[in-house]
Amino acid sequence: MNILEADSDRLLAAVRSLLEKKGIVSTAEVQERMAVTDAASPGQGARMVAKAWVDPAYRALMLEDGTKAAESLGIMMRGMPPLGVLENTAELHNLVVCTLCSCYPRAVLGYPPFWYKSASFRARAVRDPRGLLASEWKTIVPDAVKVRVVDSTADYRWMVLPVRPVGTDGWDEARLAGIVREGDMIGVTVPGV
Ligand code: FE
Repeated sequence: MNILEADSDRLLAAVRSLLEKKGIVSTAEVQERMAVTDAASPGQGARMVAKAWVDPAYRALMLEDGTKAAESLGIMMRGMPPLGVLENTAELHNLVVCTLCSCYPRAVLGYPPFWYKSASFRARAVRDPRGLLASEWKTIVPDAVKVRVVDSTADYRWMVLPVRPVGTDGWDEARLAGIVREGDMIGVTVPGV
C-alpha cells in the first residue's frame, strides 16, 4: 500500500465514523450497501431474464414490477430507484439510454459500460438507433420491427427482457442465464446460440 492509499483509507474511515457517530448512517447500512455493490453484476439481470423465459408467472411479475421481481430472487433493491422492464417482441425492439448522464440499473446490471456514458452513444441512440445498432454492434433490427428508445433517469431505471432465442428448448435456467449478456439487457445486442 502506498502513502496515498493509506491517506485515502484513513480519510474514508474518519468520514465513516463521523457519519455513524452522528447517526446519519449506521454500520449495518454501510455494510448492506457494500454487499449490494459487491453482488451487482449483469449475472443478476441474466438470472431474471432466464427465469422469465421459463416461468410465465415470473415474467408477468417482472413486466409489472421489476423491483419486486429482482427482490424475489434475493437481489437487494432497497435505496435503488424503481426498476422497469421492457419486453422485446417480434414487433418491438427496445433500446435503453440515459440521455442526460449515465443512469443504469446497477443492482441488476452492475456498473455501466464505458460507451453507455459516452456523448456519442447517448446522442446517436436517440437520433439514429437503427444505424447505431447496425454500425457499432452489427445488430440488424428488421424494418418490420419497431425500435423504441427509452430514457433511463434518476427516478426510473430500465432493463430489457430480450426474446428467448430459438434452439434453446428444454434448457434449464442456469444454462439460459449463461447466454444472456449485458448488452442484451440494454438492447444493443440480442442473445443467440
Ligand atoms: Fe443518468
